[in-house]
Amino acid sequence: MSSPYPKLRMLIDGKWIGAEGRTTQPVIDPATEDVLGYLPHAAASDLDRALHAAEQSFRSWKRVPARKRGEILKMAASLIRERAEHITRLVTLEEGKPLAEARIETAMAADTLEWYAEEGRRAYGRIIPSAVGNNQLRVMQEPVGPVAAFAPWNFPVVNPARKIGAALAAGCSCIMKPPEEAPASALAIAEALVDAGLPDGVLSIVFGVPHEISTHLLRSPIIKKVSFTGSIPVGKQLMKMSAETMKRTTMELGGHAPVLVFDDVDVDSVLDLFLAAKFMNDGQVCVSPTRFYVQNRIFDRFVEGFAARAEALPVGPGTDERNRMGPLAHPKRIDAMAVLIEDAIRAGSRSCAGGERIGNRGYYWKPTVLANVPETARTMNEEPFGPLALINPVADEDEAVARANRLPFGLAAYVFSTNGARARAMGDGLEAGMVGINNFAISTPEAPFGGVKESGHGSENAIEGLQACLTTKLISEC
Ligand code: NAD
Repeated sequence: MSSPYPKLRMLIDGKWIGAEGRTTQPVIDPATEDVLGYLPHAAASDLDRALHAAEQSFRSWKRVPARKRGEILKMAASLIRERAEHITRLVTLEEGKPLAEARIETAMAADTLEWYAEEGRRAYGRIIPSAVGNNQLRVMQEPVGPVAAFAPWNFPVVNPARKIGAALAAGCSCIMKPPEEAPASALAIAEALVDAGLPDGVLSIVFGVPHEISTHLLRSPIIKKVSFTGSIPVGKQLMKMSAETMKRTTMELGGHAPVLVFDDVDVDSVLDLFLAAKFMNDGQVCVSPTRFYVQNRIFDRFVEGFAARAEALPVGPGTDERNRMGPLAHPKRIDAMAVLIEDAIRAGSRSCAGGERIGNRGYYWKPTVLANVPETARTMNEEPFGPLALINPVADEDEAVARANRLPFGLAAYVFSTNGARARAMGDGLEAGMVGINNFAISTPEAPFGGVKESGHGSENAIEGLQACLTTKLISEC
């Protein structure tokens, strides 16, 4: 495949800005470790211009009728669909995931903008019957104000689309810092919006050293809301900073999803689904199924079938359509895998598949399966965020749900059982923001996506995603 990699830019106040004397950083192809391009970093003055533009443009954008705002979002969605194959290849080049997965992600980014385009028209208020005289209590939903959004590298087009879509549909302006590891993907979303007629300044895209950018933007009183997807420690830092000026926050942080598998399922028929979900995007997915709690009677067969399928999974460059798993996104993930797996083996886990890096060029890691992993092993307590399945036996429902709820995280959880009453009871008992029963399909624009406990708060997508960019105002009129 010849490289379609574009010149990297930022978007500030309607202008595309290149390096022009600014600091730059290389963007690396995780499949080859070659440099794809050089990304300009925003100077403090660039961030100030983006803030000023967000403040100015908010005044007019919030007055644009929701239907008109929606038309721009819909046009951007259709441009993304027209450019889908180009965007798909950018995602695979920068992030490493197989083209088939990148294609689905690109389609979902378009669907997300389109969904918000529609939902923005339904930011309803209400009239409350007053307890006194001729008083009327009118409740309005107004856009909260300029939003600062930070998107991670693992879903470099759909995550920016969620954050930008919600903000713009609600009538907010937005400054986004996409991931420095996969910048061209997010820029393609911004280009579609600009080409669709988005007014200058409503969306700015900046890059840089993440904590420097977030500190600069979050200290500003102009920013009224922060939307972050990433790790729990960074989410906590951003919340502390947001508290200084009482900014609203949506925090979509890490998880460590348990999967409860009961002995009434047909093991062979569910395993292909499990493998696809576990090794999607190399397991670098916040809702990735990770801790499999499998009922004793089917445990051995489950582990054996899982390991055999993992060993057979084709791994290689995401640009080769035959591969089901590409490289990890960056070298930090290779180091994390090595440390967590070594620790788990030392703690007494059984290695059933994988467990090591593939080659020494490109960040490839073998799909790995560990069984009988002690709860004390680091990987049972820290999100592995990699191609690692942890499979442990459980006796019954009580043990399964207790072990599933043991961690301070609560993003996604899954239950597999053909007994409807049991599956529903487990679903009710799991401490998670999202529960999949007999499936892993929990991410779609219409449904709320978010966690509980240390996995964060607030939801993206769905009416909740729009609501998070709106504020409630009461007008009491006589
Ligand atoms: P990391 O914490 O260094 O970075 C995660 C993301 O946050 C990156 O996109 C990064 O650019 C951004 N970031 C880091 N510091 C920031 C700051 N001060 N201000 C604003 N943005 C900042 O971790 P990593 O090694 O890149 O990713 C691995 C960990 O991150 C995983 O363990 C996982 O928990 C978490 N993560 C979660 C998601 C998710 O979808 N919830 C996505 C990516 C990463």
